[in-house]
Amino acid sequence: MADLDPSEYEVSELGPAIKEIEDVAALKAILGAEESGESRPAAITLIESRIEKYEGPEDEVDTDDVDLAEMSTADVGNALQGIDEVERLEALLDAEEGGEDRDSVKRLIQSRIDSVAGSDEGDTEAAQADEESMSPEERHPDLDHPTADKKHVRALENGVYRDVWVYCETQAGSLIDVSREMLGKARQLMDEYNDAYDENERVVGVLIGDDAATHADEVIACGADLVVYHEDERLERFLHKPYTEIFCQMARAGSDKYDDADEVDWKEYDKPRYVLFPATNNGRDLSAQVQAALDSGLASDCSGLYIEDTVISNPVKTGAPGEKKTFERVLHMKRPDFSGFEYSTILCLDNPNREFHPQGASVIPGSFEVPEPDADREGETVEHDATLDDDWFRVEVTDYDRLEAGVDLSGHESIVAVGRGIGADPTRGVELAVELAEAFEDADVGVSRGIVTGSYQFDGHVEKYTREERQIGETGQVVAPKLYIAAGISGAVQHKVGMDESETIVAINTDPEARIRDFSDYFIEGDLFEVLPQLTAALKEGQLDFEAAADGGGRPDATAQGGEADE
Ligand code: FAD
Repeated sequence: MADLDPSEYEVSELGPAIKEIEDVAALKAILGAEESGESRPAAITLIESRIEKYEGPEDEVDTDDVDLAEMSTADVGNALQGIDEVERLEALLDAEEGGEDRDSVKRLIQSRIDSVAGSDEGDTEAAQADEESMSPEERHPDLDHPTADKKHVRALENGVYRDVWVYCETQAGSLIDVSREMLGKARQLMDEYNDAYDENERVVGVLIGDDAATHADEVIACGADLVVYHEDERLERFLHKPYTEIFCQMARAGSDKYDDADEVDWKEYDKPRYVLFPATNNGRDLSAQVQAALDSGLASDCSGLYIEDTVISNPVKTGAPGEKKTFERVLHMKRPDFSGFEYSTILCLDNPNREFHPQGASVIPGSFEVPEPDADREGETVEHDATLDDDWFRVEVTDYDRLEAGVDLSGHESIVAVGRGIGADPTRGVELAVELAEAFEDADVGVSRGIVTGSYQFDGHVEKYTREERQIGETGQVVAPKLYIAAGISGAVQHKVGMDESETIVAINTDPEARIRDFSDYFIEGDLFEVLPQLTAALKEGQLDFEAAADGGGRPDATAQGGEADE
């Protein structure tokens, strides 16, 4: 009698159940019970692989003399790798069918035959469909499945997808700028989409929080057609579990493909077509969890988005090698890669037997314009009605501090940034940057990491401008102002990724070979201690019109200030 009766367990539960059993005799008894009971191939493979683990490796399998009856499924898999003749493989398949007749072994041999000989298309598709309809536990029964308690999310078949959803993050009672930026971009994307495809799909703003409803009008004014919100005082601060659950419930609402989907009258499709999240700390967390729970993918930290049809020849996507397939209405998600050297465009495309929706991206703050809110825009507001499970609130925020810092550089028209070029007189260098920033209508001061990690001694009145919260770049803020002035910054790639989406970049550097020259619109060869005060004076006197320069209407006459301007 086995210590454990395998018939009492689903395959997905069996892994964790036998995880602690290391006694080979006990495992063999469980195997015997399974074989004489339900004889599930996945369960058998699972128990066999556990036996193998504690029995120690068996002798090398001689592929010339393979006796399947003597071998575990895993051994068969290993042995098959050494056999390249289809006839021998077919003979083994016959032998298995006439002998043990294990489905798992037959599948292995058949897939080896397919890969050696190439199989006809129909069989491949059927095998692929078969494989994709299996849960991860069934596909990989040899694993212990520490995550077996997680529900396997099945992809939809012939799902209906519509609309672009925007997760509108708020902080300290206000919508954050990137939420507005995404709404503006989503509006533009859907206007073009509806024109191009003769559709009438919507921008849907999602608000979750303790004051969610108060932001609905602003979300509509920024471009949404519909706002869905969930308000509960327990949602005052971002929490992974309830925020993810609520978002996913909203996304699945109205679908008849999910047993537990809410019935709603504001949505008649299975899941959103597209979804945007802010690439903020909370937005990054939420986006990853939601997209996994909805069985789709995520392109993180994107700075460009457009929708287009695209032709793909990848057999994983087309279903057959050598074929091309047109995917329609694909969200193209552009993101800086290789530390900003290259931009990649990420596509989230369905497989032949598996649909990936929503196509989702998180968006770097500052990537798109903040739209001018239109208070006259009309939209619908819907309260999401659901009982929140107490269990979702097991993590409780008992105390928090609002950082004094929190300087957001992303909303300014201009930024004056300084780097290690201020080294000769660090305090004076920062003062000069502040003075120039103050001469603009809407500007602030940023710094390179060289300043943050350097050991400069700053006088108290400028020290606040040199803190990490003002660092621009890969590990700092990403900004895209109309005008970016980089004084004494070399242009390392980690800095570049934080500012190269700026409309106009002006670099001031003593080194004519500085890398920043490669991606600057204007390069002023000169000493920042001379050039910055001259720029400030000229700006105050109205001699400099950077705005016109940024709009392509001219270029700043830097030569007049003593530096050498070069485009
Ligand atoms: P430097 O590279 O030393 O450049 C100083 C420049 O000033 C030189 O070009 C010099 O010619 C010029 N100069 C000198 N004197 C004068 C003068 N009087 N007038 C005018 N010009 C003058 N860096 C960031 O900025 N942001 C990030 O987010 C960031 N993240 C990073 C993440 C990682 C994982 C790593 C490894 C690095 C990161 N860095 C980041 C650091 C980055 O690699 C560079 O070291 C840093 O950007 C250099 O700062 P800098 O341009 O001020 O200094």
